[in-house]
Amino acid sequence: MTPVGSATVTSQPTIGVLALQGDSREHVAALEAVGAAAVPVRRERELSRVDGIVIPGGESTTIDKLLRVFELFDPLAQAIAAGLPAFGSCAGMILLAARVHGGIEGQRSLGGLDVTVRRNAFGRQVDSFETDLVVAGIDDSDERPVHAVFIRAPWVEEVGPAVQVLAAVEAGPAAGRIVAVRERGVMATSFHPEITGDLRLHRMFVQIVTDRG
Ligand code: GLN
Repeated sequence: MTPVGSATVTSQPTIGVLALQGDSREHVAALEAVGAAAVPVRRERELSRVDGIVIPGGESTTIDKLLRVFELFDPLAQAIAAGLPAFGSCAGMILLAARVHGGIEGQRSLGGLDVTVRRNAFGRQVDSFETDLVVAGIDDSDERPVHAVFIRAPWVEEVGPAVQVLAAVEAGPAAGRIVAVRERGVMATSFHPEITGDLRLHRMFVQIVTDRG
């Protein structure tokens, strides 16, 4: 069997989008728009063909359960631990976090990011909200901020020493909260870049995949 993540990275990387639950279609469209070949992943054999993986927004507890049902949990966790680049948005961030506060009994995460996240962190008043963010490493985001849409989102409460903070909320009740992080080839956002038409975070991930190939 081909080892997970061993696909050769050419100028057009193949990026898998975990498609068990959540908004995988939006990620596929965004990845294709920035020149990657994007494929839905539901099976271990599909995982073995990708150069990077996106874990979409949705419901982390449901994705966790389905990962086990589809016997993908361990292969995916092992692939990420072995260096498969990964990008999680919202529920995907929760699944990549080493530690989760506010999870349900028995909820597991894949790991990959040495962070603690809090599920549904923003509270009732700001259950869903939108704001503009400057994101480190994103082209001209000082002049053209990233418009971030949060939907029952997590935030990051603690980061390990190897974790780079890419963005924090700038104003309002959640000011200062960390909402985008990167550790080596793994990145995550509390918000949903896949639904705004701003492709810069997907471009950043495709660049990470290409650079690590
Ligand atoms: N609240 C969801 C969870 O805990 C995440 C919401 C989202 O992905 N939009 O998984």
